[in-house]
Amino acid sequence: MISFEGVTKRYPGGTVAVNDLSLEAPTGEITVFVGPSGCGKTTSLRMINRMIDPTEGRVLLDGRDVREIDPPTLRRGIGYVIQHGGLFPHRRIVDNIATVPYLLGWDKKKARGRARELMERVGLGDELADRYPYQLSGGQQQRVGVARALAADPPVLLMDEPFSAVDPVVRASLQEELLRLQAELRKTIVFVTHDIDEAIKLGDRVAVLRVGGHLAQHATPPELLAAPADDFVRSFLGRDRGIRLLSFLPAEDLLLRRDLVVRREDPAPEGADWVVVVDEDRRPLGWRAAWNGHLTAFGTYRVKHDSLRAALDAALLSPCGAAIAVDDEGRVEGVVTRDVLDVALVRAAADAYSGGEGG
Ligand code: ADP
Ligand code: MG
Repeated sequence: MISFEGVTKRYPGGTVAVNDLSLEAPTGEITVFVGPSGCGKTTSLRMINRMIDPTEGRVLLDGRDVREIDPPTLRRGIGYVIQHGGLFPHRRIVDNIATVPYLLGWDKKKARGRARELMERVGLGDELADRYPYQLSGGQQQRVGVARALAADPPVLLMDEPFSAVDPVVRASLQEELLRLQAELRKTIVFVTHDIDEAIKLGDRVAVLRVGGHLAQHATPPELLAAPADDFVRSFLGRDRGIRLLSFLPAEDLLLRRDLVVRREDPAPEGADWVVVVDEDRRPLGWRAAWNGHLTAFGTYRVKHDSLRAALDAALLSPCGAAIAVDDEGRVEGVVTRDVLDVALVRAAADAYSGGEGG
């Protein structure tokens, strides 16, 4: 665990970059620092690995003041990833990744073996090993940066706007890969970004900072969306908070109607205006209206993995406002009718807003 205890950083000249920051970044979780440019994110991050020392207060790593640990020892346990990867331009990819193992005195073969293993882990083809950074795309360079930070298997990873310089599509895939890696590795990650959507996607907990280095709110993403602490956080979060909140609520508990799922040759049950028609493998063919028998468009969501947002989306894509629930193989498990969905949405809102002020 990383703890900030009353940390203030005043730069020469008088700028207060971080103002009395107290928070904890739990072990094995991703804590995101988010806020506008100049709010003290980078300064906060660098006080963890002692690239910057606080003016007041202290930063603890597993209960120990980092200022009691000499910087090289400290940094051996802390991977650091920055924008553009921060790669050495004159070193091949494999040697960039092996930087820390070389510093630790590993023999060359072992260090390169480790580097190649990490390349695979972060989704880089083996053929890139002997290239130089300028021969890689921006997204590939960021992956190299992540692999290099992981090379000596440090328990802590600091990431300063690592994905900010790549285009949105590549960025989304880098974010997915970080989450996938983290599910395996369970590092203690402090991730800095100015992008609130990135913060909400990646963070187990999110610390929202405002200019002057004040902590405005520290909460889980659903807590932030449901109950922003003040107008600054509310406006920083932007629009559609209610809809975005639904992404964090599971759809698994929605009541399924199985009687509304029929084969092509079957009649609809008594009183049903719409049924879902499935093939012999229970895959959906479309909605069928009682009055004309035509098959029309439909939306589906996965019962086990999708959120209430996905279920609502599926309902909006169907002619009768009901969602088709499928299993992981895409076979129909049942139908969530509009009234069931309405009750779930109302209850979700009530639960979320009971935690704090609305807005
Ligand atoms: P962020 O990463 O959120 O953009 P920084 O931590 O880089 O913010 O900077 C916070 C504030 O401290 C800004 O006002 C910035 O200008 C100032 N600052 C950062 N580094 C220095 C420095 N070395 N000397 C003086 N002021 C600095
Ligand atoms: Mg910064």
